[in-house]
Amino acid sequence: MVEKIVIIGSGPAGWTAAIYAARANLQPLVFAGRPKQVPALVLPGGQLMLTTEVENYPGFPEGVTGPKMMAFFEQQAVRFGTRIQTDDGQNPDVSNPDDGHAYKYHDCTRIDLSSRPFKVYGEGDQVVEAHAIIIATGATANWLGLPNEQRLARSGGGVSACAVCDGALPIFRNRELAVVGGGDSAVEEATYLTKFASKVYMIHRRDQLRASKIMAKRALDNPKIEVLWNQVVVDVLGDQKISAIRLKDTRTNAESELPVAGLFMAIGHTPATAFLGGQLELDAKGYIKLKDTYRTTTSVDGVFAAGDVVDSVYRQAVTAAGMGCKAALDAERWLAEHGIE
Ligand SMILES: Cc1cc2nc3c(=O)[nH]c(=O)nc-3n(C[C@H](O)[C@H](O)[C@H](O)COP(=O)(O)OP(=O)(O)OC[C@H]3O[C@@H](n4cnc5c(N)ncnc54)[C@H](O)[C@@H]3O)c2cc1C
Repeated sequence: MVEKIVIIGSGPAGWTAAIYAARANLQPLVFAGRPKQVPALVLPGGQLMLTTEVENYPGFPEGVTGPKMMAFFEQQAVRFGTRIQTDDGQNPDVSNPDDGHAYKYHDCTRIDLSSRPFKVYGEGDQVVEAHAIIIATGATANWLGLPNEQRLARSGGGVSACAVCDGALPIFRNRELAVVGGGDSAVEEATYLTKFASKVYMIHRRDQLRASKIMAKRALDNPKIEVLWNQVVVDVLGDQKISAIRLKDTRTNAESELPVAGLFMAIGHTPATAFLGGQLELDAKGYIKLKDTYRTTTSVDGVFAAGDVVDSVYRQAVTAAGMGCKAALDAERWLAEHGIE
């Protein structure tokens, strides 16, 4: 049997593509991804599984936790006939997201786009043939990989990798915060946080910012930003909430503690495109290149891409979900044009 649509990835983009494809009677099959540590945790459900409050996704006036929202996405996709690639070939009961069924989900290990139908390889000896593929594998925020950083990020303890997403939360207001990084996006995140924080420390391991001149000037001129040069974070302190970070001087190895109420990583993102094995055109940073700004078509006919795996600019759940919708509609039209309905 050849699948009409295989969707790879189970974040907002993947599940939204699945909802649209399933409601169009295309019975999509989703490779949701197995939980793994690379070095930070990557879970089915995507980046929002690593956060607590989501306050900017429309439709949730009181906010919602990331894992709960992604469980809703998954349940909605399955309700309309989405199937999920699992160890035992059975669709799981997704009504109880805490029962561990996600550990049966499969990674896509590679794909073969050299001829149609395409081949999608799961774990073990699983091979699925597909007329169309939607890639929604996201981009993982880079973390330091410290155990306490990960613990406090997952428990809502004031550690995050997205200032635009979390900066406005009450726990960060009028408090001293720290941003790790020295590039353009670190300056952007630090500047954004000054709207809420009493002070923002930028922790940078070198003696000069990597950011462009104009961005570096913006940080250095901002009275609320102080750059701590030649410093790396070696531990995050605090039980329920972050209380301080331990810093190490890269020249002297001397350690010190800096009390902060929040820590934000701004050390880049890694798009999950390695498994494509160079078969799709990527940009210089490894994100999938779209053929047309308003479409989700890629360099290979019949392969579509959506969400953070193509988007190094906006990186929000709502933009990823919007692109997932577009990818399903694009794939549906493409299948119809090829007589597959
Ligand atoms: C700490 C943090 C807090 C955030 N808070 C917010 C917020 O409050 N509001 C907001 O709008 N945005 C927030 N974001 C951003 C938001 O999470 C992302 O923009 C969004 O999740 C992107 O969705 P996506 O579907 O493109 O990718 P992702 O959510 O990254 O999902 C990708 C999926 O692909 C799977 N995958 C990867 N490789 C494979 C493979 N080879 N085979 C199978 N599956 C694979 C992964 O397991 C994952 O399920 C936050 C991000 C972070 C890091």
